[in-house]
This record gives sequence, C-alpha cells and structure tokens, in this order.
Amino acid sequence: MDYTPLQLYRKEKDSFFCPECGEVLGFQKFAASQKENDVSGFCKHCRKPFRISPPYIKKKLIYLDSWFLSGLFNPSKHPNQKQKDLYERLLKKLNQLVHHQKAQIVVSDIHAQEISRIPDKYDSDKFWRDVVCLAMGVVSKDHTDIQVSQMRRLIANEEEVFSWKDLFDHNPHSWNPGIKIITQLWHLGINRQFGPRYQNTNNGIRWILENQINDNSAPKETIEQCFSYICRLWVNNTLKGIDFKKKDLEFHLTNRSGIGKVPSFEELEQLATHNGKDWGDKFIYWMIELESSCEKKYNFLESLENYLIDKKELSRSVLILNAFEGIRLHRASNAMKQGGLTKHEKKFSERYGLSAINDAFHISTYAPYVDSMTVDRNAYNIIQTELVQKYLSDLKCVFYSSKNIEDFETWLDTLLNEKEPEDVRLAKRLLIGYTVEELIEDVFRRVKRNLNSRG
Ligand SMILES: [Zn+2]
Repeated sequence: MDYTPLQLYRKEKDSFFCPECGEVLGFQKFAASQKENDVSGFCKHCRKPFRISPPYIKKKLIYLDSWFLSGLFNPSKHPNQKQKDLYERLLKKLNQLVHHQKAQIVVSDIHAQEISRIPDKYDSDKFWRDVVCLAMGVVSKDHTDIQVSQMRRLIANEEEVFSWKDLFDHNPHSWNPGIKIITQLWHLGINRQFGPRYQNTNNGIRWILENQINDNSAPKETIEQCFSYICRLWVNNTLKGIDFKKKDLEFHLTNRSGIGKVPSFEELEQLATHNGKDWGDKFIYWMIELESSCEKKYNFLESLENYLIDKKELSRSVLILNAFEGIRLHRASNAMKQGGLTKHEKKFSERYGLSAINDAFHISTYAPYVDSMTVDRNAYNIIQTELVQKYLSDLKCVFYSSKNIEDFETWLDTLLNEKEPEDVRLAKRLLIGYTVEELIEDVFRRVKRNLNSRG
C-alpha cells in the first residue's frame, strides 16, 4: 500500500508516524530511494519498508551555459569581490531550489565536451563533478538525439511539442530526495578520447567558412540570404548523408555483411538443432533484431528523405541553429571584406569557431524545453536579432547573460519564496528533511507546546 505524506502526518502531534509500528518517523530515521513519483521509506524502529506516493510537482528546468557554470565553480575567475559574492549567492540559491524540488539543472553532452577540454585533468574532473552534482547526477540525452526526436515528429506530422521526454529517460518533475553521488565521469573520458580537437576543429571551421563565403552560387549580402543559404546547405548535406547511409544499410539488408543469403526460419531451425537449441535461439533472435533494426533505420531514412525533398520544413532546433549559422556566416563574410578572419585562435573560436558553434548548439537544442537559460554576451546579442527572435519569441525560455544577471537572481528569489500547497510542504518535510531554519522553528514549536500542555 502507498501512503501519502498527509496520511502519515498527525496534526495534533505535528509529526509523521510509521504506518507499520506507529512510531514517530524522525527526520534522521528516514531513508528514501527514488523512482518516478514513488518513494520508498524505511522505519528505523520496526525496520520495515513502506511506500510513499508524494503529490505531483512541476520543477523549473534551468540550463546554465559553460560561461556561467565556470563563474559558479571557479571563484578565482571573478575580477572583484562583488562578483565573487554574487556568484556565491547564485550557487547557494540554485542549490536550494534543487534541494527543495523546485528546479532541475539541465546538463548536456555539450557541457561534457567543453569541460573535457580543460587541460588540467584534476580541474576538469572536479568542475564536471560539481556541475553533475548540482544536476543531481542527471545528464540529459545527447543533443543530436534530441534533434532527431523533433524531426521524427515533423515527419509523422505530429504537433510541435517540447516535452521533457525528448531530454530525459526519467521524469525530471519527480521527487529526488537525498544526496546523490553520481559522477558520470565517463562522459569526460569519452570526450577526451573521441571529442573534437580544439585546433583541428577550428581550422576545419575556418576552411568551411572561407569556402561558403567564396561560393558564388547564392547571394550572401543580408542575414536573411545567409540564413536561406545555410538552410539549403543543411538539406543538401542531410540528403547526401541519407544517401550514403542508405547504401550502407542496403548492403547489410542484401548481403548480411558477408554472411551471404539470409537463411530461412526452417534452415535456422535446422542449424539450431545441429548446434544446440540455446545457440539457435540466440542466432534467430540476433538475425531478427538485425533485420528489423536495419529495416527500421532504412525506413526512417527514406521517410526523412521524402520529407526533405517534398516539404523542406525543418525542426525548430535546426531552424534556430541555422539562424545562428546564418548570422555567423554574415559576420564572417563582412570580416573577410575588411581584411580577413582573425588569426587569433581564441578570438576566432569565440566569434566563429568551436565556442560559437557550441553556443549555438546549447541554445538551439535546449531553449525549446527549458524555463530559463544563461548565455554569454555574444550569444545574448545574437538572440536579440530579428532572425533568431522569429524562432525563439514564442518559447517560454527567458535568457540571462552578464548584462541582466541581477534579473536572474530576482527570478531565483521569486521561485524560492513561492508559496506551496500544504501537501507539497508536508511531503518536503518528510522526504527532504528540515532546513536549519525549519529545524530551529520546529524545536521552538515543540518547546512551546510542551510548556502549554504543562501550564
Ligand atoms: Zn515502524
């Protein structure tokens, strides 16, 4: 049986009681593990577990970019004490919001890629652990998977919705009590080994930009022209990629990677009897899996191809990404007219290279899903342009940069001070325990009650 926190609570005693033995559930005697909207409790007296179903809650999804995160976890980077104090306060407030089940910080594979490039391994690991800890151990799905989810919906002619299901396997709006120690360090390891190399990638981006600027097949005088040029390139490149992938799958589907003709089920069954049933079962299973996944992939690619040829409509994230790319190309093209793209590697990366592209990925992928997002000044300025606003203005996401960081703090304060329904407040008291202030208040209340009952 599931108990709501309200059912475990007795108002006259102002305490929670074990449903099994009736003893008081002290906040220190409570341990919980989390699964969807279902928490399991444990009584220290009778040592029996019981299940709790807390009320539904809705958290704010907050996406913090790497610029902001390094401000939170690397105080030495701030130029003065005022900035240090500000970021210390912001970190405290974000932690409180997470702890109070009011916010989920969204951490992505793009963060992992950026943080993995910090040269000192110790600093890089520590930074990542701090970030993942703030996100309660949760890292979102890869940004490419999120973009594919949107494209799938477009092809299926479904309504444009931006559900958390695109971002996470588990509902972020479920209760997440307790302290989680999940480092997710493997993300860094993979990126260190296979992630894009800073210098090579920037050189590659420079080469692509120069080629795009010199390509005379389309006018690139205005931002709009650059944008439609990028969109056309995107469709053409995707179609080329589909063609390549389809050939690869066709090879699989007809040749079974060198196995030859696919055996029939009867033949497979015969093989199975010759080689032991267990082996045969596994083989049949594997063949069906291979066939169905190849076919599924092939069919998806084909429908994507038809869609792109017929409709040429792009998903929201791709449109935002291409808007950023269009603006980047327009800027680069202007810079080329005035003497060329900067040779300074860091400046190049920030204006046109890997940093700029990662900013575009952060925003284009996650802005449709989250309630607020911090971005650096350069990205903030791009967001304000008419072209990008066309694809962002109807979304709920509010952007903050160093320009309006005070507004971000005000927003966090508002969230922290928001009044909550009684059942949510009680569930929090039971599941996440007391804050120091509440603890003091609670002790005072008990003392006062004892005095009253004696008096
Ligand atoms: Zn008990």
